[in-house]
Amino acid sequence: MWNEEESSFTDLPTESDIDSAIASCPERVPCVPCGLKAQQEVIAQMRPLPGGGFSQFGQNYHTLDFVYVKPSPPDSRYKIAQIAKIEAMKTPALVTVVYFGRYDDICKKSPSPGVVSDEV
Ligand SMILES: [Zn+2]
Repeated sequence: MWNEEESSFTDLPTESDIDSAIASCPERVPCVPCGLKAQQEVIAQMRPLPGGGFSQFGQNYHTLDFVYVKPSPPDSRYKIAQIAKIEAMKTPALVTVVYFGRYDDICKKSPSPGVVSDEV
């Protein structure tokens, strides 16, 4: 199933997904949507990894990894970046990235070589 908001394909929950969602349900009344929402909130939390890096949405990230950075509206194109620095123990955690851009785009915007850092 295509998820417009996340720009990704989403699998429909399997029988075991539904069982674990019900097990995670914060309410005493078993409810699949509430259980799935509770699970999403847990995996959305940024957790520091032993030896550096962090984990979020079931994915591990380390310094020098390449990532897509979700744009903020109205820009709809994902940006390619490399993780330069991770401060996972800070609250909120801070990730510094170096954006990669098309040579022409960067040279038009800035007279100096374009290195921009931002939070994820
Ligand atoms: Zn519910």
